[in-house]
Amino acid sequence: MQSHVSPVPVSPHPFAELVQLGDEIAVLSAHLDAATARLLDLIREFDARGGWNSGFCSCAAWLSWRVGLDLGAARERVRVARALGTLPLLAQALARGELSYAKVRALTRVATPETEARLLGVGRAGTAAHVERIVRGWRYVDRRAEAREAAHRHRSRGLRVYPDADGMVVVRGRLEPEVGALFMQALAAARETLYQRARGRDGNVAVGHGNVSAETPPSMAQKQADALALLAETALHHELDPGAPGERYQVVVHVDAPALAETDQPAQSVLDGGTRVSADTSRRLACDASRVVMRHDEDGRVVEIGARTRTIPPALRRALHARDRGCRFPGCGLPFGQGHHLRHWAHGGPTTLSNLAMLCRKHHRAVHEEGFQVARGPDGALQFRRPNGHPLPEVPTPAAVPGDPIGTIRQCHDEQGLRIHARTACPTWLGESLNVGYAIDVLHPLAQRARPACIAAPSARE
Ligand SMILES: [Zn+2]
Ligand SMILES: [Zn+2]
Repeated sequence: MQSHVSPVPVSPHPFAELVQLGDEIAVLSAHLDAATARLLDLIREFDARGGWNSGFCSCAAWLSWRVGLDLGAARERVRVARALGTLPLLAQALARGELSYAKVRALTRVATPETEARLLGVGRAGTAAHVERIVRGWRYVDRRAEAREAAHRHRSRGLRVYPDADGMVVVRGRLEPEVGALFMQALAAARETLYQRARGRDGNVAVGHGNVSAETPPSMAQKQADALALLAETALHHELDPGAPGERYQVVVHVDAPALAETDQPAQSVLDGGTRVSADTSRRLACDASRVVMRHDEDGRVVEIGARTRTIPPALRRALHARDRGCRFPGCGLPFGQGHHLRHWAHGGPTTLSNLAMLCRKHHRAVHEEGFQVARGPDGALQFRRPNGHPLPEVPTPAAVPGDPIGTIRQCHDEQGLRIHARTACPTWLGESLNVGYAIDVLHPLAQRARPACIAAPSARE
């Protein structure tokens, strides 16, 4: 690429020149901040409209892949972009080049629509270091308030189980948010299992006898009660052991005896894990699971049950992990995952390193159930395709950059009527020492409320 840096000439007036150089740095920085505001607007819209949801885990993962930001910086951009959606004053100050991105990034960690105007004042008055210190103090007050609330919530947790007059058992309780989320998730999973079981049963009845169950469908509350029973049974059955992740699924392969000789017949294998899932899902679960082969005779009776094996033996899994180092889906990079058979073993694909690729759970699902495709090219590299068949490259094609990107930004800003000069982003601070405690007391709504009105702050200088 062509360089536009011009050499600094040696002159008899180095001081004046350095001032000019400093001004140029300040002007260009303000232009970049103004351009960053536009960038954040675009990111916010792209995020809200789900533009990244084409196989990427998040907007940050997409940004990291598309524009080459490291993942931490990408997450921060998305966070700031989202926050600025509800903080118009800070957004406008950034867009005018008056507040640097660093200051806006710090302020958006604590600002709310109610406190935004005050924090904008802090951003305008202080240097980036001042802003950082005030935000830290502010978060401390926030955290203390939060901790008080969390401690209160924690103390108020409880679960009471007692028999009612008619012998039924009453369950009543308050759970902390994360425990509650876990509980609701477990209930939902148990409801789903019961639903699938019932559907399998009703389906069989309908097929066999041509009628449907006449029983009234259970209410949501009844379903929840049944789900809780299943949860309790399951927990006791597993001796309250949450279990190792690799042992989650056991796939039973039913094989018809006459077809057994032709081992690469795709239709001979039926997967059955107790719950009925789509063929795509069962193929995904079977990709990396425990496997038990059952042989049937012509009448469907089981004549032989094989030993339980892993579809991907532990040694091969270690080799796969060492080679792929996590999910291979472009832009993902999660450090753990499941082994995916590029050509499924049920279709005769071998369980060898060259036929395996590591994918995280989300991307394994994307490949089996959402139409994404992955294959190994003639050169041995993995080739991913979107559901529409378009390739999904490991690295995207670079964006076209104008020959003079800085000139282009300035011209854009001129056309928008933006007047940026060397003092646009200058803090109004005049060199006094910063009393963070006093500043927080004055600015933070909770600190204000906690502070008796009569306390004076003689040391304060603003
Ligand atoms: Zn798979
Ligand atoms: Zn992934």
